[in-house]
Amino acid sequence: MPRLLIVEDEPALRRALTINLKARHYEVEAVGTGGAALRTAASSPPDLVIVDLGLPDLDGVDVIAGLRGWSRVPIIVLSARDSQAQKVRALDAGADDYVTKPFGMDELVARVRAALRRADVPDLASGAVVMTAAFTLDLAAKRATRDGAEVRLTPTEWHLVEALLRHPGTLVSGAQLLAEVWGPGYEKETNYLRVYFAQLRRKLEDEPSNPRHFITEPGLGYRFEP
Ligand code: CA
Repeated sequence: MPRLLIVEDEPALRRALTINLKARHYEVEAVGTGGAALRTAASSPPDLVIVDLGLPDLDGVDVIAGLRGWSRVPIIVLSARDSQAQKVRALDAGADDYVTKPFGMDELVARVRAALRRADVPDLASGAVVMTAAFTLDLAAKRATRDGAEVRLTPTEWHLVEALLRHPGTLVSGAQLLAEVWGPGYEKETNYLRVYFAQLRRKLEDEPSNPRHFITEPGLGYRFEP
């Protein structure tokens, strides 16, 4: 189930969006301020963000810019009618699409579907089980096994595994992993990644010094090979 983050300060609209999108089988987290949006996105990265441009604390455009500092998550903007300049600023800041208020729920859902398709969000349900020749990861139960024996992963290790599994086979930059797992401001702490990947390989790989699943691309980032 793709996870959507909704940033909308009007309680009635926030509730309506939440109910309608959940009814269409999206996992929804809804917040009312830009600050909460940035915190939530960092601690639990969504697959798509819907952001109202008129927020009480930050400008919606600042929220977009904040997200774009570390994330390529698709962003759909909700904007008031007659605010052409605002839409342009939002798109310049990195928004992917916009919907003008008032909008029909079907239109918004169609745009959500299209944005997720374009972003090629892997259908990695939170209940997914990832199996390799060496180990099995049950993401829902947070259970890892290797050769039939249970392996304990720390919460940070799970978070790192999940961040990488969201992009199977693709290169994920160290900065992106650091921001997703440790939060904005940690993009340069590459030593964290060296330490944590060494631990993960020791726990899960058959040959930790010659990893087949948790791959480092020197100077570029990391890749998960199923
Ligand atoms: Ca508003």
